[in-house]
Amino acid sequence: MANALNDLTITEARRLLVERKISAVELTKACLARIAATEPRLNAFITVCEKEAALQAEDADRCLSAGDAPPLCGIPIALKDILTVRGVRATCGSRILENFVPPYDATVVARLRSAGAVFLGKTNLDEFAMGSSTENSGFGPTLNPYDLRRVPGGSSGGSAAAVAADQCLAALGTDTGGSIRQPAAFCGVVGLKPTYSRVSRYGVVAYASSLDQVGPLAKSAADAALLLAAIAGADPRDATCSARPVPDYTAGLAGEIAGVRLGVPREYFGEGIDPEVRARVEAAIKALTAMGAKPVEVSLPHTRYAIAAYYLIATAEASANLARYDGVRYGVRAGADNHLDLYRRSRSRGFGAEVKRRIMLGTFALSAGYYDAYYLKAQKARTLIRRDFLDAFERCDLIAAAVSPTTAFGLGEKTSDPLTMYLSDVFTIAVNLGGLPALALPCGYDGRGLPVGLQLIGPAFSEELLLRAGHAYERCGFSRRRPAAL
Ligand code: GLN
Repeated sequence: MANALNDLTITEARRLLVERKISAVELTKACLARIAATEPRLNAFITVCEKEAALQAEDADRCLSAGDAPPLCGIPIALKDILTVRGVRATCGSRILENFVPPYDATVVARLRSAGAVFLGKTNLDEFAMGSSTENSGFGPTLNPYDLRRVPGGSSGGSAAAVAADQCLAALGTDTGGSIRQPAAFCGVVGLKPTYSRVSRYGVVAYASSLDQVGPLAKSAADAALLLAAIAGADPRDATCSARPVPDYTAGLAGEIAGVRLGVPREYFGEGIDPEVRARVEAAIKALTAMGAKPVEVSLPHTRYAIAAYYLIATAEASANLARYDGVRYGVRAGADNHLDLYRRSRSRGFGAEVKRRIMLGTFALSAGYYDAYYLKAQKARTLIRRDFLDAFERCDLIAAAVSPTTAFGLGEKTSDPLTMYLSDVFTIAVNLGGLPALALPCGYDGRGLPVGLQLIGPAFSEELLLRAGHAYERCGFSRRRPAAL
């Protein structure tokens, strides 16, 4: 049981709220007090919305008292600052958008709002979600709550750190190549990247549109199930969003995992993986096996092309998506003599180094004469990677692997070499290229006390099974250690 109200899970808080043992106002105040006490060190938030949150909490208490409480009524949640909330600045971690106030809610935000959630604020991220450490933010890095000299992962590092530090009950992030799962693993929380098209992208500022997905970061699989149920489902504002009905993920948690065939891909356990991470993940696979899952060896032979393919496809899409920041319609506008100069100066000043690097890479990959050699080739590799998964899922129901080859690395350790930084997503990126869902679960700690993440990958639309397996794993005895660094 939790010590303070902000330590609660959504599931625990829901019960206490409905029984009127606690109020939404008290719960929100506890989170805001924790934010005030820890933010000077953690820097998980770019914008904290005290006033709006207090008003939402009062509304929630009225609904709760009237006995008319939607599923997330009065639950304080943090939102990655790449999701639009009407009237609240959305920076995307970029100085180019430091004053951008969107006039509309993202669909996921509107859905959380109608489910009664309270918005605590907008969390820090790598600029436009490009990065794996939150060090690329234009608003300073977020620190890892388990060790303040280390990164929380990225790009949803602010969301992961905020959940781990109990500043909120849960958060939303986005995952284009690992940005929910890798920070969840580094901060010891649960992170779910849904199937591409499961969740609407309307109001999610675009990085790489064929890969981006929104999903929850939470303290348990059961909480992730509640959040996914609230945000998933068809949206007339996003033509890529699936019309498939949304199952009752919470009801789905109850089933068995006995007999589930658990694929263990040999390519994910070889070179480059830290031995302590490997040992914790293997122990987790043993624990699932003890509960009746059946391990089977599988192969994903094209995994080695995933990083190269991703960094061509994602940057190509980013170069097109980020063309809109021209100093005319949004954010920073530099003084200039003519319009070309205006674009050039506004973009030079507003974007950080990693974003510029990716725009240049993507523009190059799409340019005449190079398109076939780079972009088209990367799309072909993507097809092979997707087929690897389809073949593997003929032989297994879920795939188990590490989330990241190491635990949280030191601040500044990888900033001078973008390629080493890119390698920290070697186990997460193929999932996005395949459009598949995957769950990151805390599965232990290394010798320094840093969290290790287990990744479960499923076929398209298998979120129910993923969450059930995650819930079963949590029940088999793994317990979360609260971060001591704060
Ligand atoms: N770390 C990866 C990148 O830098 C993935 C980011 C993401 O998922 N948004 O592109």
